[in-house]
Order: sequence, then structure tokens, then C-alpha cells
Amino acid sequence: PHGVVVVGAAHAGVQLADRLRAGGFTGELTLISDEPHLPYQRPPLSKAWLKGEATGDSVLLREPDYYRDQKIELIVGARVTHLSRTPVGVEVRFIRDGENSIREFDRLVLATGARPRRLPLPGADHPDVLVLRDLDDARSLAARVPAGPVVVVGGGFVGLEVAATARALGAEVTVIEAGERLLARAVGADTAAALLAAHRTMATDVVLGALPVSIEHRDNRIHAVRLDDGREIPAATVLVGIGAEARTELAEQLGLDCDGGILVDRHCLASDRWTLAIGDCTTHVSESGARYRLESVDNAVEQANAAAAVLLGEPCPQRPAPWFWSDQGDQKLQIAGLIGGHTSMLVRTDPQRPHRRVALYFTDDALVAAECLNSPADFVALRSALSRGHRPGPKDLADTAVPLKKLLA
Ligand code: FAD
Repeated sequence: PHGVVVVGAAHAGVQLADRLRAGGFTGELTLISDEPHLPYQRPPLSKAWLKGEATGDSVLLREPDYYRDQKIELIVGARVTHLSRTPVGVEVRFIRDGENSIREFDRLVLATGARPRRLPLPGADHPDVLVLRDLDDARSLAARVPAGPVVVVGGGFVGLEVAATARALGAEVTVIEAGERLLARAVGADTAAALLAAHRTMATDVVLGALPVSIEHRDNRIHAVRLDDGREIPAATVLVGIGAEARTELAEQLGLDCDGGILVDRHCLASDRWTLAIGDCTTHVSESGARYRLESVDNAVEQANAAAAVLLGEPCPQRPAPWFWSDQGDQKLQIAGLIGGHTSMLVRTDPQRPHRRVALYFTDDALVAAECLNSPADFVALRSALSRGHRPGPKDLADTAVPLKKLLA
């Protein structure tokens, strides 16, 4: 194609542009973002940035000059409102500073990410009830923490990271989770229990199995979150971390199949076999027909690489084992592979270093995934083994006296 347009300029969109230029693509390359900022990384927003340890510049995905140097047209502060196919490509309508523009391109990539779910409760429309997805959300949160008690609704990754950071900043923090354990959709019970203990050691009050029913105000200030059992948890700031929904509205305009995300194959082709979609806005359809949605930097990068290969006319790159990380205070969690559908598991601990813990998951005696708490060397060895297709069974990895690196060599 001559001219490629990418809607969304974050982890996925920027990686795609980067990979295209590195792969020798010389056509026009346009990134359109509805955020007013240069593309930046989201993971620090709940960690170093919120703690005041990262500046605006240190979270940028690329240096400001990068886009000009690479001849990438970056249009920020512009929201794409309509997309329609033309006989030769796509017509893109966007609005920027109140002005409407129409442009045509040969090829379309959707990298529109996800938007945080809101809490549909009485009182939840108060400005001190926040979500955390973008830099502006992070600024609002940083302006309020640690003054007054913080209530985090949702025991998922973003909520737990914010809880740990807010505790480190000295705030009184309560996490309210509807389920009977933390991170129920993301990690196994053993890892979840270890993280629960770690948060309680940080003096975060974690309330499990409770639902908030309203946010209570007094004199236009939040003072509590009321739970379904009648309890009132004092709050000055509420952070809602109950997940994010794929932004599929533009894909739906084009009539693309969606199921909690834009359905894509391993090449990142959508159902029209023409539009490419990458990152948090997608739902994968595997060759066996299984559907799953990943929200991680690794997935955004790997899907961008796959889509770039399509545009460059190259074979689909081999995908290494998926991975994810989450830093929660002094707890470093790293996950390799995909958990779910396993038939057995094994937990490796080290009495000399009780903060370390590795949960291994097997399907039919073959390693499929691992969760590593504070064990970065084990994580590296496990991810490398999974990426190489090396799948030992539980017996091969049971001897905790021998490091995993050795057992997996
Ligand atoms: P996004 O980053 O969501 O970017 C999509 C972009 O498209 C946005 O800028 C959006 O505004 C723009 N857009 C959407 N629609 C339009 C439109 N119509 N017109 C113009 N622009 C549009 N992942 C990890 O692996 N590890 C972590 O530790 C981790 N921590 C995280 C912490 C936080 C607080 C958050 C919010 C996420 C974290 N993630 C982490 C997840 C990770 O950031 C996402 O998986 C990643 O950002 C996905 O990138 P993306 O480019 O697909 O989508």
C-alpha cells in the first residue's frame, strides 16, 4: 500500500509504525490519536508516574523528534468519527479543535485500545470517583492521593497497583473486590493468595466478597463508599478499576465482526480480510476457533509486528510465549504463557527466600504457563522454554533444590 492510516497511537499503533519503517516501508504513514499528548506508555501511570518518580518525558514511547525523523505523520488531539470503505481504500473523517477533516488512505489499521468501565452506582458521577486509563486520569489521581482515604473498587491489576502506590505515598487504602479472591480472571488461586497477603502486609484493607452500592457525598465531597452489607468505608477518592472494554465502535461502523473486541486471526486481519486490528481492541480467534482477549504491552507489540508483516508482504513472525508483568509495591509479578484450561499445577517455593514463589501450570503433563512472584530469573527461563516449545512436565520441575534455569536448560 501507498498510504497506511493507523487509528490510535499508543503501544500498538506506534510499534506498528516503527516496525513498518524498520522493514523498509516508504509509503505515507499516518497515526491519528484522540489524546492531546505525544504517544506515551500506560504501565507507569499506576506505578512510577503516580509515585512522582517518572516525568512526562520519561513515559513517552518515542522521543519527540522520532516521528518527524521517521516521516510519520502524527495527528494528535483528533478523534476519528467515521470510517467508510472506498473502492481503493478507506475514507477517514476526524474532528480536531472543532474542525472536521476527511482524508483517504489505501490501508487501515485499528489500534483503538480500550476504555475503562464505569461504576453504574448512585453518586458515582462525582469528580472524585476516578478511573485510570490515560495521562489525564493519572494527573487527576495524583492530585488527590494521598490526601484522605482512597477506596479502590476492583481487585484487578490496575486497582492493586494503584492501591500499593497509594499506600507507599502514605494514603489509607481499602480495596473492595466482589469476588472471593483477587485477580480471579488473571491468575491462579495460589498467586492470588500470595498477593492478598502482600497487600495486607502493606496495611491495605482488602475486603473480599463485597459489592459497593453507592458513593456517599456530604457538602459535595465524597465521604464513604457504602457496601451491600451496610458497611460504610471512609473515602475521599474512589478509584474504579473494574476492567476495560475494547473500543470497537469504528470497527462496527465498518461491519466487522466483534465479540468483546474486534475479531482477528493470527495475522491480525479482521473479518473483512482487509482491515488490520491490533492491541487491546482485539479478540483473537485461534486456529482451533478459541476466542480470547489479551490486554498487555506484549500483545500490543506482537500483534503490531504481525500486522506490519502483512503490510510488508512478509511471512507472519513466529510469536514468542505471551507475557505480562504487574508491579504492586515491592511485589513483582511476571506471567508467561496463557493460564486456563490446565489440568495440573505445581508451586515452587524457596524457604530461604519466602517472598519468591513460582506457580507452574500444565496441560496433560506439558508446561503451558507460569506465574512468577519476585522471581525474575525463573521467569526468563520459563518464558524462554515456552517460546522454544520446550514443555516439561511437573515431575521434571519438582525439585526445588535445583534452579529452574538448570532444569529447563
Ligand atoms: P491503548 O493504549 O488503549 O491506545 C489506544 C489509543 O487509541 C488511545 O490513545 C485512544 O485514545 C486512541 N483512540 C481510540 N479511539 C480513537 C478514535 N476514534 N480516534 C482517535 N484515537 C482513538 N500492560 C502490561 O503488560 N503491564 C503492565 O504493567 C500494565 N500496566 C498498566 C497500567 C495501567 C494504568 C493501564 C491503563 C494499563 C496497563 N497495562 C499494562 C496495559 C497496557 O497499557 C495496554 O495493554 C496497552 O496500552 C494496549 O495498547 P493499545 O495501543 O492496544 O491501546
